[in-house]
Amino acid sequence: MTAKPILWIVIPCYNEQEVLPITAPLFLQKVRDLAAAGLVSEKSRVCFVNDGSRDDTWRLICEFAKADEHFIGISQSRNRGHQAAVLAGLMEARENGVDVTISIDCDGQDDINAMDEMVRKYLAGAEVVYGVRSRRDTDTFFKRFTAEGFYHLMNLLGADIVFNHADYRLISSRVLDSFADYREVNIFLRGMVPLVGYPSDTVAYERHERLAGESHYPLSKMLALAFDGITSLSNKPIRLITGMGMLFSALSFIGVVWAFIGAMLGSTVAGWASTVCIVCLMGGIQLVCLGVIGEYIGKIYMETKARPRYIISERTWAPYERKYHG
Ligand code: UDP
Ligand code: MG
Repeated sequence: MTAKPILWIVIPCYNEQEVLPITAPLFLQKVRDLAAAGLVSEKSRVCFVNDGSRDDTWRLICEFAKADEHFIGISQSRNRGHQAAVLAGLMEARENGVDVTISIDCDGQDDINAMDEMVRKYLAGAEVVYGVRSRRDTDTFFKRFTAEGFYHLMNLLGADIVFNHADYRLISSRVLDSFADYREVNIFLRGMVPLVGYPSDTVAYERHERLAGESHYPLSKMLALAFDGITSLSNKPIRLITGMGMLFSALSFIGVVWAFIGAMLGSTVAGWASTVCIVCLMGGIQLVCLGVIGEYIGKIYMETKARPRYIISERTWAPYERKYHG
């Protein structure tokens, strides 16, 4: 029999001092249970990624690491956002030769009991296992409506993402190795992981309410994420603009012909209202188009800089040692 896989549960944490003391023991119990059930190695770990929290989160993580060897943690030099934090954790796991990772939020919303099935599906051959929400009963109508609209819009605009899957997923080391070659700085993990390919599977789970603390994803951040996702993954908006431009060109050509015939027949009235309308309309459309094009240019700008996507400033095992000997 081959050795049992080493699992790291990667957990991004940003200002989570209220919820961590509640959920950390649950994660610990889960790793222990998985190891006891013989699904993963005893060397499996719970890896917290502190995303530049301003509260006591990092101190808590360090305390956990001292209290139990199953807990480890890394800290980003400042807040870089959820996606970068998850990426930092995944890449840290990869550099330490971990066989399989599961990323999950730290607030207890995602059902940790789905991990057993994820690992089983991994052992059965899946390289990526997506956690997919079965119901959204615990969400407010507004959150559900906007979140589901988000998935539909994303797919419509060419960003192929798994429906109702957030960032709760299992990824094998093989996929992480390939994923490390995706060098883009605009990271949208949900859209990027499917691009890597490999056999994948899904596990349905129910999402609960946050156990404590508050959400860091208000509507504005959700919209920003959607916009980032679409423009990072697809060129469809640019095509749509081109199509729209052609349509309007055709329409204005008809308008010109119509005006010309009208003038020839001598039935034109000096109507400045219609002129103003057209000017405004065209001005508006052009601004929208310029905005979207600018968005892509901004992306190119950021990509050409190739700045680091995350910076790890501290580690619970040794601040300046990358390698974890556990
Ligand atoms: N998070 C993070 N950096 C941020 C914002 C959030 O690491 O800048 C983490 C947060 O600690 C949590 C996860 O990302 O573990 C999801 O955030 P949250 O629960 O606030 O979002 P929601 O579940 O409401 O969409
Ligand atoms: Mg949450």
